[in-house]
Amino acid sequence: MKALLALVALSSSAAVHAPTPEHSADTANEAAVYALSMAYAQFPHYYEYGGVIVKMPSGKFNASKPTTDGHADNVEIDEDPDSYESEYPIVADYHTHPCLDGYVPGSFSPSDLHSMRSSNRPGYMLDECTGDIHYWAPGDGYDKPDDKASPLMKFFGPQLSRGKIVGHIPVDGKAIAL
Ligand SMILES: [Zn+2]
Repeated sequence: MKALLALVALSSSAAVHAPTPEHSADTANEAAVYALSMAYAQFPHYYEYGGVIVKMPSGKFNASKPTTDGHADNVEIDEDPDSYESEYPIVADYHTHPCLDGYVPGSFSPSDLHSMRSSNRPGYMLDECTGDIHYWAPGDGYDKPDDKASPLMKFFGPQLSRGKIVGHIPVDGKAIAL
């Protein structure tokens, strides 16, 4: 996941959808679970999808429509705060991790963590292998690789985190080879 504003500016009109009151959730967590379940239901398996969670003037939470760049292992999310009116502050982002062979879909990647540290906002991520929804906030720290960790996890350990599991949706767990 990246949040490259220069690139996103070209497509921001497609990426941004005004929140609608009928899908408001009581918590950011609920909005993220809803958005990720919609992303999975509509676009499972092949591409990363993502968006943002905004706080509504009512105090409830809403999600932007999930968008993709057509890539399996990254998606750029429009996180430009000015793309929302000031009464809809972005409070978190969300994205999917397709169940790809040779990847670690159950962990936030180094670029995921970089993006959240840069924006100083937490994020939600759906692992499409398990259906678990992971949450990480800046300051939550990183995973220490243990003896059971794969060589990949040991190598990237200082820059990976599984975060906390805060939700779950049903998935078929089908693995995809690129
Ligand atoms: Zn990611």
